[in-house]
Amino acid sequence: PAGGTIQPERWPAPAWPLPADPALEARVDALLATMTLEEKVGQIVQGDISSLTPEDVRKYRLGSVLAGGGSDPGGKYNAAPAEWLAQADAFYEASMDTRGGGKAIPILYGIDAVHGQSNVIGATVFPHNIGLGATRNPDLIREIGRITAIETRTTGMEWTFAPTVAVPRDDRWGRSYEGYSEDPKLVARYAGAMVEGLQGKVGDKEFLDAAHVISSVKHYLGDGGTSDGKDQGDTQIGQAELRDIHNAGYPPAIAAGTQAVMVSFSSYQGVKLAGHKPLVTDVLKGRMNFGGFVVTDWNAHGQIAGCDNTQCPATVNAGVDLVMAPDSWKPFYESTLAAAKAGTIPMARLDDAVRRVLRVKFRLGLFDAGKPSQRMLGGKFELLGAPEHRAVARRAVRESLVLLKNQGGVLPLNPKKKLLVAGDGADSMAKQSGGWTLTWQGTGTTRADFPNGETIWEGLKAAVQVAGGSAELAADGRYRTKPDAAIVVIGENPYAEFQGDLPTLLYKPGDDSDLALIRKLKADGIPVVTVFLSGRPLWVNREINASNAFVAAWLPGSEGAGIADVLLRGPDDGIGYDFKGRLSYSWPRRADQYANNVGQKNYRPQFPYGYGLTYAGAGDLVPLPETSGVSLAQAQPGQFYGLGMLAPGLSLTLEAADRRAVSLKTLPAAADDDSIRIAAVDHRRQEDARRVTWSGSAPARLSLIADAAKDLTREANGDMQLSLALRVDAPPKGEVAISVACGEGCGA
Ligand code: BGC
Repeated sequence: PAGGTIQPERWPAPAWPLPADPALEARVDALLATMTLEEKVGQIVQGDISSLTPEDVRKYRLGSVLAGGGSDPGGKYNAAPAEWLAQADAFYEASMDTRGGGKAIPILYGIDAVHGQSNVIGATVFPHNIGLGATRNPDLIREIGRITAIETRTTGMEWTFAPTVAVPRDDRWGRSYEGYSEDPKLVARYAGAMVEGLQGKVGDKEFLDAAHVISSVKHYLGDGGTSDGKDQGDTQIGQAELRDIHNAGYPPAIAAGTQAVMVSFSSYQGVKLAGHKPLVTDVLKGRMNFGGFVVTDWNAHGQIAGCDNTQCPATVNAGVDLVMAPDSWKPFYESTLAAAKAGTIPMARLDDAVRRVLRVKFRLGLFDAGKPSQRMLGGKFELLGAPEHRAVARRAVRESLVLLKNQGGVLPLNPKKKLLVAGDGADSMAKQSGGWTLTWQGTGTTRADFPNGETIWEGLKAAVQVAGGSAELAADGRYRTKPDAAIVVIGENPYAEFQGDLPTLLYKPGDDSDLALIRKLKADGIPVVTVFLSGRPLWVNREINASNAFVAAWLPGSEGAGIADVLLRGPDDGIGYDFKGRLSYSWPRRADQYANNVGQKNYRPQFPYGYGLTYAGAGDLVPLPETSGVSLAQAQPGQFYGLGMLAPGLSLTLEAADRRAVSLKTLPAAADDDSIRIAAVDHRRQEDARRVTWSGSAPARLSLIADAAKDLTREANGDMQLSLALRVDAPPKGEVAISVACGEGCGA
C-alpha cells in the first residue's frame, strides 16, 4: 500500500530521557492559555532570513527563523560574524517586542552548522561526516559537537540542523558525505555522541545551557535508501529494512534527548515523509517516545499529495510541529490560520505542536536569556577558529585518512627531501571543505574565508620547511626543480544535495586530466602519492593503479595540516602519526556497483568496509581491474557524459541509429571550457541531424547531453529506445569512454 505497512509495535521503544517536569508544564500551559490563534499558528511556522524580516516577526509573531544553506545577513555571502550576531539580535528583539500587543515568545534561530559553524567566516570547519565515520571515534564526534555548539553560539543561534543520521546505501546520492556510514551500527554509535556534544548530557548542569545548541537529527526517515540514490526520492523497501537500517540512528539520538527531528524530503513507499502520519506520529512520537518537536525540511510540505507551497494542513495533521516554509511562509501562515479556524487542523493537534515548540524554548532558557549578544558566548568571536578547536579538527583529519595503497612503502615521505605538491585540490579551501561551507553548494569558498585554517599545500609546506626540506606547488605538475616525490591532490568539486547526485560512480567521466597528471609524473620517474578528496567512494581504479600510494581523504575541512601530519615523517622522527582511518563506506570495484554495502549478499567491493592500511601493515597491491562496467543504459537525462579527448587530426562521428527516436546537434561550447557538446534532441525539430561529425584541430573534450530526453520518453509510450553509435575515423590515442544519456524510465 501507499506509505507501506507500518506496525509501530515492531519498532524499538527508546526511553525519552527527560523526566516529567510539572513546573515547566505549568509555564507552558499558562502561556498557551493566553495565546491567540494567530500566535499559535505563528509558533509553528519558520521563515528563512532571505525572506523573513524582523518586522515580519513583530507582525506575524513567527516562532522560528532559519538561515538555510547559502542564506546570510544581507544575502551577500561570506557575512562576517558580527553581522550574523547583529541580525540574530534583531530577530530576537522583534520577537520580544510586545508593543503591537502580541505575547513575547523568544524566537528560535536554526542554522546548518553541519561541519562546524561553517556558515561563518573564520569558523573551524571539521571534516564532513563521511570522514568522521572513518575515524571510528565516538568520543571525538562528541567533542566536535561540543565545539560546533560553542562556535555557533558566538554568532547568536541556538539550534543546528545536525546531525545527519542517514545510512546512505547508494553512493550516487549527492548527500552520501553527510552520512557517517553505510553501516547502521556505526551510525547508531555516533548519533547519540553527536547529540550529546551539541546539547550537553541530559542530567548534567550544562545540558542545553548557553554553550550548547539543540540538535535536529535528520532526515527522518529513509533519506539514504531512495531508489537509485536519488535525492528527495522514494524509498521502496520493506518495513524491516527501513527500521533496522535507516532508523538505526534515531533511538540513540532520542535516548540522548535530541530536541528536534527533521523529516525528510523523500517518500516511503510513495508517501512523502512530511505527510507520513504512521511514521511521524505513531512510530516517532508514539512508539519511540520522542518528546521534542518535529520540523519539516525546506518547503517540503509543498511536495505532499494534495498540498502546494502555500497550503498544507496535512503536514501538521501528520504530526509535524514546526513547518520550514521558506518560499512560502506568508501564504502558508495565512492558509494554516484559516485551516485552524475551520477545524481542518484540530485545535488539540495545534496545541500539541505549539506545546512541543514552547517546551524547547523553556528548556533552552530563552525566555530569560536576553538577546543573543548578551548571552554567555555571544560575540566571543575569538572562539571562532580558536587554536584548541582547530587542534581537534586537525586530529579529526588525521584520524579520517584511509590508506588504500602504499606500494613499496613509498609513504611516509621524508620531509627533508624535495617535494612537489600538485593537483587542483592542493591549494583549494573549496575542494577540501565541500558543500555546506559558506554557501549551500560550497563552490565559492576561498582561502581568505578561513584565515585561521590551512590548505593541504600550506600544511605540507610548513612541515617541510620545519624539517629543512623543500616544497614546490605546481597545480599542473610542471615542476621547476626535479622533485624526489610528488603529492597529487585531486577530487570532486563541491556540491550539495541533489546537485551532487550521479548517474554512475565514474570519477569525472570524460575528463582524464588527473590520471594524465599522475601518469606524467610517474613517467618522469617521480613516485606519486595521490590524495583523493571526495564526498564518497568513486571508481578510481586507474588512478590508484597509476599512483604509488593512494589516500582517501574525504572532505577534511579547514585544517589541511592534518594531512601533512600523517604523510610526512623523517627517518629520525620516531613514531609520529600512523594511518588510523578505516572505510565506513565500501569502495566499489566497478563504477556500476552502486548499492554495494557490507553485510549484503554478493558483496564484492574493491576495498571492503573497514579497510585501511597502516604503515605497520601495508602490503603491495596487485593492479586493480580497469573495466568501469558502466553501460549505456545507466545514464540519466540532463547529465553530461564525457566522450573522451578529441586529439588533433582525429575525427569522430556520432550517429543516431534510430532516426525516429533521436537526432543530434552540436551545442556552442560554454565560454569557460573547450568541450564540444552534443545534444540528443527531439527528432521533431527538423533542423537537427542524425549524424554529426567533428574534426579535431585543437584538442577538445567531447560530451553529450540528452536534454530533451524527457520529450522522447513522453512520446515513446514508454517503449522508445535511444541508440547511438560512435564511429572513430582514426584510432584514438588512449581511451575513449562513452556513455549516453537516456530518458527517465529508460531500461536496459
Ligand atoms: C536540506 C536540509 C537543511 C535545510 C535547511 C534543506 O534543503 O535538505 O538538510 O537542513 O535545507 O537549510
